[in-house]
Amino acid sequence: MLKTKKQETKANRVEQQAEKLSRPLVQELDDILGKPIKVLDDGFIRVVDYMGSDESIVQAARVSYGKGTKKVSEDRGLIRYLLRHQHTTPFEMCEIKFHVRVPMDCWRQWIRHRTANVNEYSTRYSLAIDASQRTPHTEWRMQSKDNKQGSEGFFDGDKGKQFSAQELELQNFSRQVYEQRVTEGMAREQARKDLPLSTYTEAYWKVDLHNLLHFLWLRMDPHAQYEIRMYAKTIGEQIVAKWVPFAWQAFLDYKVNASALSHIEIEIIKSLNAGGKDAAIEKAREFGLLPAAGQEIKGNRERSDIEAKLNLLGISIPWK
Ligand SMILES: Cc1cc2nc3c(=O)[nH]c(=O)nc-3n(C[C@H](O)[C@H](O)[C@H](O)COP(=O)(O)OP(=O)(O)OC[C@H]3O[C@@H](n4cnc5c(N)ncnc54)[C@H](O)[C@@H]3O)c2cc1C
Repeated sequence: MLKTKKQETKANRVEQQAEKLSRPLVQELDDILGKPIKVLDDGFIRVVDYMGSDESIVQAARVSYGKGTKKVSEDRGLIRYLLRHQHTTPFEMCEIKFHVRVPMDCWRQWIRHRTANVNEYSTRYSLAIDASQRTPHTEWRMQSKDNKQGSEGFFDGDKGKQFSAQELELQNFSRQVYEQRVTEGMAREQARKDLPLSTYTEAYWKVDLHNLLHFLWLRMDPHAQYEIRMYAKTIGEQIVAKWVPFAWQAFLDYKVNASALSHIEIEIIKSLNAGGKDAAIEKAREFGLLPAAGQEIKGNRERSDIEAKLNLLGISIPWK
């Protein structure tokens, strides 16, 4: 049946509205949806679902002006402005849901991020996953001397082989004990208690983009433990970069590869510019970062942080 002009206009209007309200899709992310991306030896991350795109950030930011999306270059500029100025709520309009498989020690760090929604595999209900993270013999790290929470350098090959052999023995034995307990009818909730932290767990983890970037900022940092850093790097470089490319680039520029200066750091750099090396040393003494002239210079965490920033800026360290 032919439509009247009025019916046609109405149909067009409905169609246009539907188009306007259609869900933003990101082809590059759709292409990897559901596909596990390997991390460590037996872990993975896969995107289960997502909502929003760069466009949704812009749409939310512009809502107060009642303006729609403008040119692509303006969208990029707006996202960069928002991120630079910590205007965070538009980033919360994007959400992503992951299915992750992570060793339990790493998961213990991950789960400290409270701003996500989590559902973890239950080893009270089901048998513990029969996989444990193994360390290649070349990757046993030594304790850092400066950073009590960090590592530096690797054990040599022979020592490494010994650690890897012990690891294998321990993991096999604990699994064997676990399975024996279960076979004999012990409750799974108790049978699991001696499984090592290297045992893999799985979870669904849903988070908005603002809190995901915060997680990535902390966990991609060189101070984060290597294992969780590998997960964060994978999420950032292989998922977020595809999902919201403008937000990801802004995040790299204004957070990951940026550095904030404290009041003390600004004062020291100003003194260096105005009065040279001696003036900067004097200023550092004033702030208690260096001892009085002639006294032994001991380690100082804040001074090390300043030195790292001066290095980043290509400025010679005045007291070295
Ligand atoms: C290198 C490194 C070393 C660490 N070492 C230790 C350690 O030795 N021991 C230890 O226990 N933890 C340690 N942590 C964990 C750390 O202290 C944080 O618990 C973790 O990184 C989560 O950070 P978050 O609270 O900012 O993140 P989220 O929980 O995701 O929260 C994001 C933001 O939301 C806000 N927020 C969330 N919940 C609250 C709340 N209840 N009240 C107020 N604001 C809230 C805060 O602004 C917070 O920054 C370490 C973390 C890192 C990265």
